[in-house]
Amino acid sequence: MTIAKVQPTHCDRLACVYVRQSTPGQVLENRESTERQYQLQARAIALGWSPSRVEIIDEDQGRTGSTAAHRTGFQRLVSEVGLGRVGIVLMLEASRLARNNSDWYRLIEICGLSATLIADEGAVYNPCDPNDRLLLGVKGTISEAELFTLRTRLYEGRWNKARKGRLAFPLPTGYVRGPGPEGQWELDPDMQVRERLGYVFELFRREGVARRVVRTLKAEILELPARVMGKERYGTVVWKTPTLSAIVRILQNPAYAGAYVFGRWDYSGNRRSVRTGKKLPHLRPVAQWPVHLDAHHPGYLSWEEFVSNQTRLRQNWNREGSRGVARDGTALLQGLVVCGVCGRTMGVQHRVARERRSPSYMCQQGYSDGDAHICQSMTSRPVDAGVVQVFLEAVSPASLPVAMRVLDQIEHDLAGQRRQRELQLEQARYDVRLAQRQYERVDPDHRLVASELERRWNERLERVVQLEQAHAKAEEDAQWDLTPEERAAISALSQDLPAIWAAPTTTNQERKQLLRSAIDCVQLDGVSTAGQIDVQIRWRSGVVTRLIVERHRAGADALKTPAEAVDRIHALASTSTYAEIAAQLNAEGWRTAFGRAFTSQHVGYICRRDGVARGTLHPTLTPTGNLEKVH
Ligand SMILES: [Zn+2]
Repeated sequence: MTIAKVQPTHCDRLACVYVRQSTPGQVLENRESTERQYQLQARAIALGWSPSRVEIIDEDQGRTGSTAAHRTGFQRLVSEVGLGRVGIVLMLEASRLARNNSDWYRLIEICGLSATLIADEGAVYNPCDPNDRLLLGVKGTISEAELFTLRTRLYEGRWNKARKGRLAFPLPTGYVRGPGPEGQWELDPDMQVRERLGYVFELFRREGVARRVVRTLKAEILELPARVMGKERYGTVVWKTPTLSAIVRILQNPAYAGAYVFGRWDYSGNRRSVRTGKKLPHLRPVAQWPVHLDAHHPGYLSWEEFVSNQTRLRQNWNREGSRGVARDGTALLQGLVVCGVCGRTMGVQHRVARERRSPSYMCQQGYSDGDAHICQSMTSRPVDAGVVQVFLEAVSPASLPVAMRVLDQIEHDLAGQRRQRELQLEQARYDVRLAQRQYERVDPDHRLVASELERRWNERLERVVQLEQAHAKAEEDAQWDLTPEERAAISALSQDLPAIWAAPTTTNQERKQLLRSAIDCVQLDGVSTAGQIDVQIRWRSGVVTRLIVERHRAGADALKTPAEAVDRIHALASTSTYAEIAAQLNAEGWRTAFGRAFTSQHVGYICRRDGVARGTLHPTLTPTGNLEKVH
């Protein structure tokens, strides 16, 4: 009876097998169902189509089924059917084809018009037949209802469990489920995993910028642990090169602060991904988390620190535009300044020499990469002054006790780093032994497997060598015992340095070199607190000194044209030309703010600025108006 519906006219046209799954997860999990869908190809052949006329449309793998708008495969199917090229559409459970009713009816309608059959594993439907049409329509409706109830049922169940803190979702790396029936969260028994996560939080404490945490980890060749979520090797730990997104995910995850949280992401919005058609969620603020149980399990950091980390991360993202710049300076920290907001290297913007204005430190890499604004900028002068003061103090004999504390801190840091490296090396050596055993166990005649195992073994050996070299280099860097001669030299230098620094014979180039000899980088954050710049000096020794520098307020102590000279210009403006005024001022011995002779341009600038037109006097101004304030 089924076969009777298939006519030769159908077999002359294409048979389309439409294969689809809902989510990438299902694509992985439901291999079986995908195989069943591909078997429909055989069914088409059994129904009388020649193999060459069977086409498989599977572009929708991994797209969600709620609307057809993003499923190009479905759209292609509809257009092919509409053009009358298709004799039969085969799919697993016909009702799965299009879950959205309107899409579904459209397809049935078009199939009806173009006399195209629809088939699944069990039956063939002829949409021209009113009975078949009814059947298909009902199936589509049921499918939609099922999608809805299934979703709400799952959703409600999840929420009920979540409210009790018992919903089992994959635990973040660093936690494992305890043996009890409740499945309590426990810290990962793998010490290396625990210590590495702890190190990430410690680095963020120190650096304050996620990007710099990534940079430091990479510089120290330290990797991040991750748990395999796929079916094979489920739950095993793999080590991955740190990325910014991975670090941010760790820093943003409240689980590490011991909290059980569910519903952080809000899926109620309407924005959809252009690529996959899935809804784009957004992160809810802490106060709006639907399920939030504090002290649910042991944490890697305190809740307070977690909250302050979030503020810090937000501040780093919400960038402000640049601020005004002021005058005079030499940008001594050129090449040393790093942005405390985004972690990029900051550049120096030099003014035209004639302007004699102070250069600015500017973070504009993001801007050149396409951000809307430059990240931040600040006048170099106050920052330079602050850093230089700290620098001179740091090398003064009075700061010896500080130096001792500094030494202690370095020792502590070095010990921590050494421990990380040793753990990593130990793991790598273990991996080598494992690979070697695997290799030795395989039958040498089994060439393909043997050579693959040998390759892996070699790879791991190389990694050990790499790590050993890094370890040796780090140890070497960490050596810094001073000879008595060096100590004497340093002591002499500390006495002399302030004098050398201030000497008129010392050039800025030399001052820069002096700073570089002691400072690794200077991190600037002029965004987090209005009117202030948070300066973190990272010494070559690895120690960090922090200071707050007041932002230079435009005009506060900027260079000014002497008030008396301005008064003279105002007085002369009604009777003389700009050039005459300039000549008159120069003859009277006045000089500009920069100690140079007046020109007609300069006089014209002051007249326009103060609203004093040549030959007239602005009615609201007296010749000695209180304009000095704004100069
Ligand atoms: Zn920046």
